[in-house]
Amino acid sequence: YQAKRRGGGFAFYSSPDIGNGVSTITLESALNRALEREEFILHYQPQFETQSGRLIGMEALLRWQHPELGLIAPNDFIPLAEVTGLIVPIGRWVMEEATRQAVEWSQLFPDLIMAVNLSARQFGQQDLIEQVRVVLEKTNLRPQQLELELTESMLMHAEEATDILKRLKDLGVRLAVDDFGTGYSNLAYLKHFPIDTLKIDQSFIQNLTKNGSADSRDRALLSAIINLAQALNLTVTAEGVEHELQLTFLTEEACDVLQGYLLKRPQPRELMSLWLEELKKLGKPIQFESAVK
Ligand code: C2E
Ligand code: MG
Ligand code: MG
Ligand code: MG
Repeated sequence: YQAKRRGGGFAFYSSPDIGNGVSTITLESALNRALEREEFILHYQPQFETQSGRLIGMEALLRWQHPELGLIAPNDFIPLAEVTGLIVPIGRWVMEEATRQAVEWSQLFPDLIMAVNLSARQFGQQDLIEQVRVVLEKTNLRPQQLELELTESMLMHAEEATDILKRLKDLGVRLAVDDFGTGYSNLAYLKHFPIDTLKIDQSFIQNLTKNGSADSRDRALLSAIINLAQALNLTVTAEGVEHELQLTFLTEEACDVLQGYLLKRPQPRELMSLWLEELKKLGKPIQFESAVK
C-alpha cells in the first residue's frame, strides 16, 4: 500500500497482520461495510485524579467486532481506515457514540470528561469544527466534558493547526496531546497552541519498571515532563500505569491524572455502566493502596 499524504510526500503502509492470513483487500472491503453493519463498538477506560482517587474521565477506545475474526484492535485497522479515508465516517460515529454515552453517564457523574481520539485525517477535515458543534448541540453534552485527543505529529503536519485548535477551543471543548514525548522534539508549539492536557506516552511510564527497578534517568525524564506540564499550567496524565511502583512514583511526582490497567482496564459500555453504578453507590473514591503513605 502506498498512500499520498496531506502536505505531500509518501507514507508507506504495510498491511496489518491480524493473523489468519487475511489480505488487506479482504479487510478493506469488510471495513467498508463494517459501519453500516454496526460492527464497531467502543470500550471505555476510566481516568482518575491522582490526589483524590476520584474518577474524572473516560477514554473512548474503538474496536471492530468482526463476525468471523472476532474483536480487532484499533492498531490493526485504523491505519487502513486512515489511508482509505474510511476513518472519517468511522471517526464521526465514534464522536457521536462517545458523546451520547457521556451524557448518559453524567447522570451518575455530572462532570465526567469523555476523551475521544482524533485521527490525522479527521483533524484535516474541513467540517471538523462543524461536526463537533453539531454533536454537542444534538446531545446537549457540556463542551467542557468533551476532550479531543490529538498527537504531536498531527499538530505539526496540519497546515493551519493553530487556527483549527482555536476554533475548537472556541466551542469550549478540551484539547489533549496524546502520546506526548514521542512525536516531536521542538516544544515551542506548547506555547502557541491552546492545549489543556498532556498525556505522557506509555513508554515513559513503562521504562520506569523495565528492569525491575527504576533507572534514575527514566525517573528524571518523567519528572521533567510532569514539571514542564505543570509550569505551563497543563493537566498532565500518565497512561499505561500497570505497576505499583509506577503508581507510587507518579503520586510522589504529583502527576495529575492516572490511567492504566492497574487502575481499570478498558471495558465495553455495559460492564462499565455496572461498575459506575457500584462506584456511585459506594460513594467514595478509589483507594490507590500503594500511594497511601
Ligand atoms: P491511545 O489513544 O494512546 O490509547 C491508549 C492505549 O493503551 C489503548 O489501546 C489502551 O487500551 C491501552 N492501555 C490502557 N492502559 C494500558 C496499560 O496499563 N498498559 C498497556 N500496555 N496498554 C494500556 P487500544 O485501545 O488498543 O488503542 C490503541 C490506539 O488506537 C490508541 O492509543 C489510539 O491512538 C488509537 N485509537 C483508539 N480508538 C480510536 C478512535 O476512536 N479513533 C482514532 N483515530 N484512534 C483510536
Ligand atoms: Mg488516546
Ligand atoms: Mg496514548
Ligand atoms: Mg496512540
